Amino acid sequence: MADLQYTPIEEIEKIHASLQAGFKSGRARDIKYRKHQLLQLAYLLKDNKDRFNQAAGLDLGRSYPENEILEHYVSLEQIKYTFDNFEKWTKPESAEFSIYFGARPQIRKEPKGVVLIFVPFNYPIMLLMSPLAGAIAAGNTICVKVSELLPATSSLLAELFPKYLDQDLYRIVNGDIPVSTKLLELPWDHILYTGSGRVGKIVAAAAAKHLTPVTLELGGKCPTIVDPRVNLKVAAKRILWGRTSNAGQTCVAPDYVLIPKNGEEAFINALKEAYREFYPNGTTEPGNIARLPNHGSFDRVKGLLDDTKGTIILGGETDREAKYIAPTIVKNVGPEDSLMKDEIFAPILPIITVGDFDEAIEFINARDHPLALYIFTDDSKLKEKVFSNTRSGSCVCNEVVLQIPTPGLPFGGFGASGNGGYHTGKYSFDLFTHQRSTLTMPNWMEVALASRYPPFSSRKSKL
Ligand code: NAD
Repeated sequence: MADLQYTPIEEIEKIHASLQAGFKSGRARDIKYRKHQLLQLAYLLKDNKDRFNQAAGLDLGRSYPENEILEHYVSLEQIKYTFDNFEKWTKPESAEFSIYFGARPQIRKEPKGVVLIFVPFNYPIMLLMSPLAGAIAAGNTICVKVSELLPATSSLLAELFPKYLDQDLYRIVNGDIPVSTKLLELPWDHILYTGSGRVGKIVAAAAAKHLTPVTLELGGKCPTIVDPRVNLKVAAKRILWGRTSNAGQTCVAPDYVLIPKNGEEAFINALKEAYREFYPNGTTEPGNIARLPNHGSFDRVKGLLDDTKGTIILGGETDREAKYIAPTIVKNVGPEDSLMKDEIFAPILPIITVGDFDEAIEFINARDHPLALYIFTDDSKLKEKVFSNTRSGSCVCNEVVLQIPTPGLPFGGFGASGNGGYHTGKYSFDLFTHQRSTLTMPNWMEVALASRYPPFSSRKSKL
């Protein structure tokens, strides 16, 4: 496996200073230059597709086809969409109304400046490219901190960035906690942090010292309500795919199922059928299921499985050497179970039975607001009830995960799962854009504005 070279700590301030100088140069604000850099970003991915696929295999045991679906195409599409559309997003907007009839109020779309982006390990390309494309399009200079858990991918990014992108404007930083800590000591103009809530609190506290605006894209447990009257075959396939793709390491993966007791058996049978379809030759066959990034992650997940009081009905096999957890379904899971304490972030799906849908809603509302909430039902009244009586970053009916690559939908959390919304082109652009209010007042308006000057008189204010 590739050796990951960390950025020396003493380099960090220099990188920050050179990005500040780069921003002052005005190059990042030039529209033609932004276009050129976006194109370069697309070529960085396109030219090196096989190397990125290979790196994902080494770091996360992902197969080429899975990697292409999960990261490559989505990232390229995001860049292309941004490239095609961002010029119109940069145009100033006239304000709708001014009480000063002669004034020309406008909202200018200006870059925030020098921004910092943290990328987690689970989608190292998609969660890098989506915000990066938006931040470049918005005219910023950018420092990206990639994950230390992925030596092959992060080394490749460090090699390719200088070859394709302007190093005065866009930099990759590699390293672990000391590097992140040093980065967080510096005054950025915006920080986008994607990762765990635990580290999110550290990032928010550090940003507060400089009053740096910060966007937190965090995780948590995403509940999935299943109405037994729905097409269970389709529901089971979609849920099993969402829970097992990338070995369950997706922030919006369905984390647990809530189902009325009378529908549990039929749903489990549908899951068994989907499982047989997905893994006709067993789950250990190479490429069928990705791996966890390190032994620490494996030990955490194995501990959850060892401690569960639930009944494992499918899967359950593990291999520490290979960092492998089989897709696993667990029933008879109680609310206090080990699997219900934190985000599982592995291909394990607990099933919890409830008396009715009101109990499912209560169960969800008694916990942190999730990043995503899923409901499988054909009953529009039930869907509306769930949508209207819960809070979450996103809410999806009869599907999982696909809210992320849907153009036009902002993506983000709510409460403990984060704040702000970005991901797709325009929302990423907006995140890294300062909406600057401007007003230009003509001299001839003095007639109408004279009443504001002393000495005040009732005759003047009637003018
Ligand atoms: P993480 O919080 O461990 O790491 C994320 C980044 O923070 C990395 O670059 C890491 O180097 C840095 N970091 C780690 N410890 C730090 C510290 N003490 N101080 C400063 N920086 C530190 O997250 P992860 O394990 O890479 O990713 C998994 C988590 O990310 C899950 O909780 C998942 O749900 C969440 N996630 C959220 C989204 C989203 O869009 N909301 C997307 C993907 C992942």
